[in-house]
Amino acid sequence: MSDGTNRSAFDALAEERTADHFHDECGVFGIYNHEEASHIAYLGLYALQHRGQESAGICTSDEQSHFVHRSMGLVADVFEKSTLNKLYGQHAVGHVRYSTAGESLLRNAQPFCAATDDGPVSIAHNGNLVNVASLRHELQKQGTIFSSSADSEVIVHLLARSRESSLEGRLIDAISRVTGAFSLIVLTADSLIAARDPHGFRPLSLARLDDAWVVASESCAMDLIGATFVRDVEPGEVVVIRDGELTSLHPFASTKESFCIFEYIYFARPDSNLLDQQNVYAFRKELGRVLCREYPAEADMVVPVLDSGTAAALGYAEEAGIPYETALIRNHYVQRTFIEPAQSIRHFGVKVKHNAVTGILRGKRVILVEDSIVRGTTLIKIVTMLRNAGAQEVHVRVSSPPTMGPCHYGIDTPDSEELIAHRNTPEEICKIIGADSLGYLSIAGLRNAAQELKHNFCDACFSLEYPVQSEDGNGIPQLSLFRPVVEADVRSEDRS
Ligand code: AMP
Repeated sequence: MSDGTNRSAFDALAEERTADHFHDECGVFGIYNHEEASHIAYLGLYALQHRGQESAGICTSDEQSHFVHRSMGLVADVFEKSTLNKLYGQHAVGHVRYSTAGESLLRNAQPFCAATDDGPVSIAHNGNLVNVASLRHELQKQGTIFSSSADSEVIVHLLARSRESSLEGRLIDAISRVTGAFSLIVLTADSLIAARDPHGFRPLSLARLDDAWVVASESCAMDLIGATFVRDVEPGEVVVIRDGELTSLHPFASTKESFCIFEYIYFARPDSNLLDQQNVYAFRKELGRVLCREYPAEADMVVPVLDSGTAAALGYAEEAGIPYETALIRNHYVQRTFIEPAQSIRHFGVKVKHNAVTGILRGKRVILVEDSIVRGTTLIKIVTMLRNAGAQEVHVRVSSPPTMGPCHYGIDTPDSEELIAHRNTPEEICKIIGADSLGYLSIAGLRNAAQELKHNFCDACFSLEYPVQSEDGNGIPQLSLFRPVVEADVRSEDRS
């Protein structure tokens, strides 16, 4: 736990960012056949910003060349109108990234662009591949030179080396060699291709915007641009959009679907509809109800940890018949850097982001609802904050089971040793975070609720039942890239 007393505010906030909510995975967006393709892609990425805040990129095609701009930072900072105007063409693919694999550098920003025999190819990838180490090793031994440590580059090299005659055939050949999670959007000179791994770990859906086709990670991106949802890309499906026609291919043997339950618990935006348009917010609220039935408590108010605990807290409050109060307020404008006064302030980092509403907390028994506990950092600080604001009792309720293991499929989770639930029982965690009681949703409760969605889920981070084994740590040397002394490329503009 950090109290920010003997370090700079920047350090404190950097730790906040590392330990807290800023680890989303990636978001992908594609549009085919729209005269304002780059602008629409910008809006799509804007709506998907919660899925990655480290870098953003858009690549467009005018059916001859690809035009790309990628940079570190938020979508609104990365693109200016003049940049979008220079991304010519009627087709576009875009990406927002938080690194789940690969270093945090501009060279890993996506879309990943390459020139192949079939013309330019640009790939936006969401998910994490679990056999890239061995594939990289194999490709490097054959002379392949990698320019990034992003998983997507492996796909591009496999595609370039494939002996299949068509570009679709080469792509299918390439992705049939990778295992793990991928929701991909591939822009070629004249087509847009969307593909999901056979387990369907990550979301990807199709929509229409007048005559254009849209592909996006989440429906919130479609809502912003006024597109009409058509359907999800199916697990193991490859959808080719060319000349306005959509062709659906199913090149892989079918396997059990393993959609990431954590998308529903935390990652996706609550207004998004995933899996046959089933709403995220409604599911989270239901988890809150189940949690209340499993772990009731006598209290005066139910308080969410904003924003992630909001829907579950509402469900809990409704089920319990206890008033819901936003007794913690969140500053939505927290930036990476800010100026700290010379004299350090206690708990500065956490107070920048959350503050308690003292007036309504004094003398009250609080049920504090959070969606998940990873290292415990957030709750240690927030329980202390509520007590300092006068709360008499703090009962913590978590709308997911204890996080026991890392995700190998694209959610950024620390190693098991850093997961508080891996090392401690709920009783011990309750003491560590300083709560009066702690209740986690049970795995059975989560699975029962998820049954209503009529899909199969991966809940390996809770159950340790991994649908695909990771090859990490099997003795294959990891790619080691040179690291720049000064990250000069962070600000450079990439335009071809
Ligand atoms: P921690 O403070 O380490 O216990 O992390 C828990 C907080 O981070 C909760 O507020 C969650 O909403 C959020 N969270 C849970 N899982 C992740 C993740 N994989 N990446 C980023 N934030 C997460």
